[in-house]
Order: sequence, then structure tokens, then C-alpha cells
Amino acid sequence: MTAGTQSRAWFERARAALPGGVDSPVRAFRAVGGTPIVIQGANGQTIVDVDDRPYLDFVGSWGPLILGHAHPKVVAAIEAAARGGTSYGAPCRAEIELAEQVVESYPGIEQVRFVSSGTEAVMSAVRLARGATGRDLIVKFSGCYHGHVDHLLVAAGSGLVTFGKPSSAGVPADFAGLTRVLPLDDEAALDALFAAEGDRIAAAIIEPVPANNGLLMQRPAFLKALRAHCDAFSALLIFDEVITGFRLGPGGAAAHYGLVPDLATFGKVIGGGMPVGAFAGRRELMRELAPEGSVYQAGTLSGNPVAMAAGLATLDVLRESDGWQALDERGRYLEQVIGEALRESPFPASLARIGSIFWIALLASAPPRTAEAVGPASGKAYANLFHSLLGQGIALAPSAYEVGFLSLAHSRADIDRLGEALRVALADANPGEPTDDQA
Ligand SMILES: *Cc1c(COP(=O)(O)O)cnc(C)c1O
Repeated sequence: MTAGTQSRAWFERARAALPGGVDSPVRAFRAVGGTPIVIQGANGQTIVDVDDRPYLDFVGSWGPLILGHAHPKVVAAIEAAARGGTSYGAPCRAEIELAEQVVESYPGIEQVRFVSSGTEAVMSAVRLARGATGRDLIVKFSGCYHGHVDHLLVAAGSGLVTFGKPSSAGVPADFAGLTRVLPLDDEAALDALFAAEGDRIAAAIIEPVPANNGLLMQRPAFLKALRAHCDAFSALLIFDEVITGFRLGPGGAAAHYGLVPDLATFGKVIGGGMPVGAFAGRRELMRELAPEGSVYQAGTLSGNPVAMAAGLATLDVLRESDGWQALDERGRYLEQVIGEALRESPFPASLARIGSIFWIALLASAPPRTAEAVGPASGKAYANLFHSLLGQGIALAPSAYEVGFLSLAHSRADIDRLGEALRVALADANPGEPTDDQA
């Protein structure tokens, strides 16, 4: 689909004033081609561009908007909080209440510190893990994303896979040299790394439900093996629950798998659409943080009263309305509807889903478990699919590697609409030929 004249004009201005026209790279449509739509507003399950075209939205701001856009209770909470002052630089009631909710909800957690993004949460949790263990090495898994933290913008090097090399300019090789990168779904690789270097590892960090390279569902046995290796070598296990925290349920992926990490990171849903991140752990670990301990960490806007109010209102609505169960039911319905559409696809396509998170894996007859198993050819097929859906008034994320999100604002009728549009799009999405719109 071609962006409208207003979107084109605004994006022209954007390209002059913002690098690439955006503040976060994937928004620029580079992975799918064409000009991004520029947004003027959103409500419920609908997002509207500056040409007044509405789209049924399955991006949900990349995960935070579990109630849909501009939920009245969240908007009211933000308004009320803002009237009382937008920032104090001092403790406030809302941050204490939200911290208590995290502690009550998430397994093994006794204390929380709030920050302003998921990246900041991960960066601080890694520093805390290093400070608490006195070790430097960090283990990450190929296909997991943890924000743009220097030590985690690291890809598997060639040859011996575990040694990291920077995946972004500006990250010193010396930083990447402290990161080890392992494939997902591979106990043998875990055994080998921990046997060789286990006593130098501060922490292993993983998205227990990897949802940033498609949705790479892991075998519970693999996650259990990771927990066991960390225990055996007194390394910490960090669950990055920035997507899954308070989306899969109040206990996140930890409760889903019955595994307790040493530290967990949060973002997205916990801020109800405002900039919030958090990291949390047992008191004995968290007290290593300044002012009690020697690991420095701080933030002018951390625990911001307006953002905390949005997070609290979001969790209130989820609890009051049995939201997580409703989302899972809707997810099951989506699995059925999309499953039917995919069975008619002219090329192989499959669906991965957990709760309200879903991913359509093109050119794969079963959803992959590792980043390495996601074929590069799926990108072109996805670009065609994406533009066909956008032309039919449905917004998925502009990249084959991004998942879709359901919110409580999505009805069964919305999911039916997605299923019908998907049938058309799959028929259009000949993986061999890009459509004219992307030229
Ligand atoms: C989005 C995300 C982050 C980074 O959060 P930001 O708020 O974008 O900095 C970190 N980890 C995971 C798993 C994420 O999905």
C-alpha cells in the first residue's frame, strides 16, 4: 500500500528533522519498503493516520497497550496525576503502590527499582549482577533482544560461536568481548560454555519467551537447564520480561514456566503506554544498589507519578476484568481463525502464539525455535503480506521479525477481520516478487 499524501508530506519533514525520519529504527519501514504512515491519533483497537485512514492495530505500540489505545481509565488516571504535578524528584505514593504490586505478583521478587525504559532496566540489572557477583562475563542468546545496551548489542562471532562481536558501530570490541552468545534451544552449548567459563559468568540473560526475532517458543527443559547451570556456577539468571511481564499474566513467563529468576526486568505493559521500566529481585541482591550498596544507579524521572499512575490503572483494569484470562481466550480464538487462513496459504506459513502474543512465520511449516532457523527469504514474503494488509486497513508491525499483540480492545469480530484480510494477503504475497508499492 502507498502512504497517503499527508503521511508523505509529514514524513518528508520528519526526514529533515529526525535521523531516518524516526526515533526508533524499525518505524522507518526499511524492512518492508515504502513510506511510513504518520499517526494522528488512536483509540481502542484503531489507529488513525494523518490522511484520516483508520487501521485495525495489532502493534499496540510494540507491546505496552494491553488495554488498547487511550483506555478511559488510563487516560483519567494520567489526567488526575498530571494535575497533581508531573514530577517531584522525591518518593511518591504511586511508585510505592506499583512496586508493591510487582512484589506481590512476580515469583521470588522482594524489591523493585523503577527506571524509564526497558533498555535502562536491562542495563541496570546487568550492572547489579556484575556488582553483586564480582564477575564480568554476561551470557546472552542469539535472537533475544534486550534493548540497546552496549554489552548486549552483540552477535555471535564466526567460528567459535560463543565469543561476541559488536552488532552496532560504536560498541567497543572490548565490551563485546565480555559477552558470550549462545544459540537458543541447545543444552549442549550451555554445558560447554559453563564448563569452560562458568566461574567467570556474572549472569545469563534471556527472554524466557523470545519475542523479538519472531516468537521462538522454548522447550521448558531448556529453560530449566539454564536455571540449573546458573545455580551450579553461582551465576545469576536474569529473565527479561519487558514484553511478557504483566502480559502473559501477573507472574509473567516465570509463573508460566514455574521457574524463578534471580533478577527480572520489566517495561512496556507495566507503564500503561508511558515511559517506564523496572528491574527487581530478592532483597539481598537489590540492597547492593545505591544508596544501600555500592552499585550506582539513578534517574531524574524514575518512578514518575504520571507514568506510575498509568501503570497502576492498567493493572487495575486487568485484575478487575479478569483481563489475562480474556486475553488468552481471544488468543485461542485468533489461533483458530489464523490457523484456518494459513491452511489455505499458497506457500508454507505457520503461527506461534502464547497468550495475547502471536507471530506468523512465513515459509516455515512449523514455527522455529532458534533465530538461525528463521529463513531470510521470509522477509520478502512478509513485506508483500504487510503492504496488502495495510491496504486493507490492518496494521501489523513493519518487520517479519516482530510479533503481533492482542489487547482487551480487540473483539472476535476484529480477529475475524484479520483472518479474512490475511487470506487475501497470503494470496497476494508471492514470496518471489515484491509488489509495486515497495519500488
Ligand atoms: C522492548 C524490549 C526491550 C527494550 O525496551 P525499551 O523500552 O524499548 O528500551 C528490552 N527487552 C525486551 C525483551 C524488549 O522487548
